[in-house]
Amino acid sequence: MDQDNSPDVIIIGSGVGGGAVAHQLAGTGASILILERGDFLPNEPQNSDPDAVFVQARYRTTDEWQHADGRRFRPGQYYHVGGHTKFYGTAMFRFRDSDFREQSFAGGVSTGWPVTYDQLRSHYDMAERLFGVRGQAGADPTEPDRDPYAHAAIPHEPVIADMAARLAGLGMHPFPMPSAVDYGPGGTCRRCGTCDAFACRWDAKGDADTRLIRPLLDHPDVTLWTGAKVTRLIADDQDGRITEVELTHGNTPLRISAPLVVLSAGAINSALILLRSASQAMPQGLANRSGVVGRYLMNHHLTGLMGLRPFATNPTRFPKTLSMNDFYHGLPDDPDARGNVQMLGNINGPMIRSTYPQMPRAMADWLGRHSVDWLCMSEDLPDRDSRVRLLPDDRVQIEYAPGGRAGHDRFVRHIRSQLRRAGFPVVLRHSFGIEAPSHQCGTVRMGDDPATSALDHLCRAHDHPNLYVVDGGFMPSSAALNPALTIAAQALRVGDHLRGQWRQLAAA
Ligand SMILES: Cc1cc2nc3c(=O)[nH]c(=O)nc-3n(C[C@H](O)[C@H](O)[C@H](O)COP(=O)(O)OP(=O)(O)OC[C@H]3O[C@@H](n4cnc5c(N)ncnc54)[C@H](O)[C@@H]3O)c2cc1C
Ligand code: SF4
Repeated sequence: MDQDNSPDVIIIGSGVGGGAVAHQLAGTGASILILERGDFLPNEPQNSDPDAVFVQARYRTTDEWQHADGRRFRPGQYYHVGGHTKFYGTAMFRFRDSDFREQSFAGGVSTGWPVTYDQLRSHYDMAERLFGVRGQAGADPTEPDRDPYAHAAIPHEPVIADMAARLAGLGMHPFPMPSAVDYGPGGTCRRCGTCDAFACRWDAKGDADTRLIRPLLDHPDVTLWTGAKVTRLIADDQDGRITEVELTHGNTPLRISAPLVVLSAGAINSALILLRSASQAMPQGLANRSGVVGRYLMNHHLTGLMGLRPFATNPTRFPKTLSMNDFYHGLPDDPDARGNVQMLGNINGPMIRSTYPQMPRAMADWLGRHSVDWLCMSEDLPDRDSRVRLLPDDRVQIEYAPGGRAGHDRFVRHIRSQLRRAGFPVVLRHSFGIEAPSHQCGTVRMGDDPATSALDHLCRAHDHPNLYVVDGGFMPSSAALNPALTIAAQALRVGDHLRGQWRQLAAA
């Protein structure tokens, strides 16, 4: 970057999307400035302390958002280098072939993507290599065509192996869950007991910080500014080019410019930045001729299940090794009751009490010690009225309208009955809401038609030739699988395109 802060590329956000584009552009000669509102997550004992993480919410943003009825909440948003992957559960699935095609259900239409699985396949390979994903090809009955994983799947601990055997005995096809954890000979994972929703003190999680950003920090062409919060983008009224990025760095307000701007602040924050950038010439905000920015907010239908065997404790330290897709395309007599089932990280007493504070501590701890914990995930069908809205005084309002809920509830009912058959007499359930927007996506959707989408198939804004948006906002539909690997694959694909493109943009 030259001395007057004029990089060739500005990347906003250091999560999966931003990190993947930075990875692709480093070494091409482009000078890259990454703007990240957070800081590096400190490595400290509290990283794996359930009280600190769940009860005190030590790492969660203190910002507040509100529901449509005005109720305020402190969202499960994490602003650090690496973004949400610092706390993610490391489940790294590819979407299925069919997830990229338009499909109709009783609860709505799952929008087709302007990209196919085959077009993303080589970038899925690359994303898995970068994040160090472990898995077993051929074991998941719905997985798309793929080559073997570079690393063997993480072995089950005894309770999970027993679960797998019981479910297989009932005719299902449980398989090893693909996971980005550096486990195995020479690996740094020590099965510490807190992984999903916690940060890793041993850098054994394949996250966007450890795998994408930190390896670039010694690169002469890459500069990372932490504490750099972008507020708006300024566009030329005539040709739509982004001419400046407005931010606060520390306490200093700044405007900087670059020929190429890559926005990747997370689905909700990217939409907010575009909406906040409204001008006289573009009163709806940027990239928003179609009016879709902020709309089609999705987050998955997510229901946790705690299977209880009163006389057996569960000493498993890393339970996230098992998943099931037998009902990914629906129950035999109910195609709308569909989704993925996967192990959750260990649920413990403080986590339970952070949601149910009235529960006595002894009871919460007992539940935590005795439960085997699952997550049921169904597609959240896109709905134009599900949205993030920026109110005139800059307050953020989330009007979340998840699509296809009735099918999810029937799917969960079926999975509970299967778990009872598998030997768990009591199966408790808890549904996660938009207060934890962990799988947020869809708010800056891509598509072929500028009248109904904000971005083209390479995530370039239809309205702005030098603006790309590469976080989960680009997803036209959410599938029923964890999003991080797909965000990485598409952002790597966009980065490939930009490797050949940035010089032209710089010369324009
Ligand atoms: C607890 C938890 C568990 C999860 N488990 C899984 C899992 O097992 N598997 C999976 O696939 N997915 C999982 N996810 C979801 C996954 O982490 C996200 O889908 C993914 O990280 C999103 O990447 P992103 O690049 O779109 O956005 P983010 O990760 O949100 O990155 C956006 C970045 O931009 C920064 N930023 C925001 N606003 C600004 C601004 N104004 N200026 C500058 N910078 C800004 C943020 O600090 C952040 O670093 C989980 C998420 C959570 C929270
Ligand atoms: S289980 Fe392994 S990867 Fe996960 S936080 Fe613990 S040491 Fe890190």
